[in-house]
Amino acid sequence: MVGSTGLSSSSSSHHHHHSHHHSYTPSSRILTDVPCKVCHDNSSGKHYGIFACDGCAGFFKRSIRRNRQYVCKNKGQGGCQVDKTHRNQCRACRLKKCVEAGMNRDGKSIPPFFQSH
Ligand SMILES: [Zn+2]
Ligand SMILES: [Zn+2]
Repeated sequence: MVGSTGLSSSSSSHHHHHSHHHSYTPSSRILTDVPCKVCHDNSSGKHYGIFACDGCAGFFKRSIRRNRQYVCKNKGQGGCQVDKTHRNQCRACRLKKCVEAGMNRDGKSIPPFFQSH
């Protein structure tokens, strides 16, 4: 073994291999892959029995606490779009969709806000 290359010392060099592991630690907030069943926003887990976002869960909670009766913006006919961008426009349809998606308070069924035909 003749160090003809002249760089035989490279093997002994102590590289301080400081691997910068930029490990992305997930926040404590668990975002699931399952979207909110009501508005398809990111859900933060199960609320009232279904996967829902904080917005819909809070809305549902307020609604049933106060026994809210909402009037549909669409002349009371229902059928309003409820998604991430439109969910605040018609609370009647949003609540209806919450219930239809399976939300319930403490496992008890809640009185129907809407009569389905
Ligand atoms: Zn939602
Ligand atoms: Zn509506």
